[in-house]
Amino acid sequence: MPTGLDFPAREWRSQPWAHVAAEVERLKKANDVVVLAHNYQRPEVQDVADYIGDSLGLAIQASEVDKQHILFCGVDFMAESAVVVNPTKRVIFPNLRASCPMAAMIDAPTLRLMKQQHPEAAVVAYVNTSAEVKVEADVCCTSSNAIKVVNSLPHNEVIMVPDVNLGLYVQRFTDKKVLTYPGYCHVHRDIDLAEVRTRQGEFPQAPLVVHPECNPELIDIADFVASTEGMIHYSRKHASKTILIATEQEMSHRLQREVPGKRFITFKRSYCHAQKTIQFSDVLQALETLEPVVTLPTETIVGARRSIDRMLALGRGEIIFERGAAPVAPA
Ligand code: SF4
Repeated sequence: MPTGLDFPAREWRSQPWAHVAAEVERLKKANDVVVLAHNYQRPEVQDVADYIGDSLGLAIQASEVDKQHILFCGVDFMAESAVVVNPTKRVIFPNLRASCPMAAMIDAPTLRLMKQQHPEAAVVAYVNTSAEVKVEADVCCTSSNAIKVVNSLPHNEVIMVPDVNLGLYVQRFTDKKVLTYPGYCHVHRDIDLAEVRTRQGEFPQAPLVVHPECNPELIDIADFVASTEGMIHYSRKHASKTILIATEQEMSHRLQREVPGKRFITFKRSYCHAQKTIQFSDVLQALETLEPVVTLPTETIVGARRSIDRMLALGRGEIIFERGAAPVAPA
């Protein structure tokens, strides 16, 4: 159940499964499996992962995997991205019910209608979208590179899907017109301003770090706005021993591991049921059976890959669009 407590009160959750850690390692080795886990996964799942990260970090890790099998602990669009960036690997997704409600808020036909309505606009799809939506996009973005991606485009108008709050955040940093879509992440949208104010009163020295999927009024009072990876860097550098973290609660588990000696305070409603769908028992079973597997049609892989590759090319400083010209294929 959501608690909104800071990390030490929930530390016990890692313990009941510690005795099977050796079995997990044996199965990983025997079946040539790498385990990737998102920052919002259950602590006991994070603790048996080979890599933990945000959706971009995990996609990059997935593209570099040399093992035969990728066991992906996250939500559906992330497992799809692993297939897209490394289609020769078998991507195992331990519980097919782990579906992101925000990604489900937009589908490819709806995006096609938006494109018809705004034919001059570029389309930027948050990585938190299905592979089919990525096929319809010009380029993908993450919460850490969205401003850079939008500002790199020569277009005056940019459709951003699906998260309205990320679109509104980017609008603060660009002269382009950002055409938003009414999708949202309930986990970040529902973080309560009054609760945040109360916690700020209790810990007046603690900086408030906010994810860009949060509501604008929370962004307005943030000391720092960042993706989950940005939160780790900030927490390492900041002198404060207590930090208020406005993102999904389980982020505190990774923060506690990587930035020990500090206290991370999260908020009551910031609990993602979709990310918690994968149980430790699902991971164990998937390691044994190497099922269920995620597959995508080849044309979906190729189309989605183009949008992801353009985002990665932008990150390398390459020009991917020129005004009046067709997009330049990333190297
Ligand atoms: S935290 Fe939000 S965006 Fe991430 S999986 Fe959960 S609902 Fe989707």
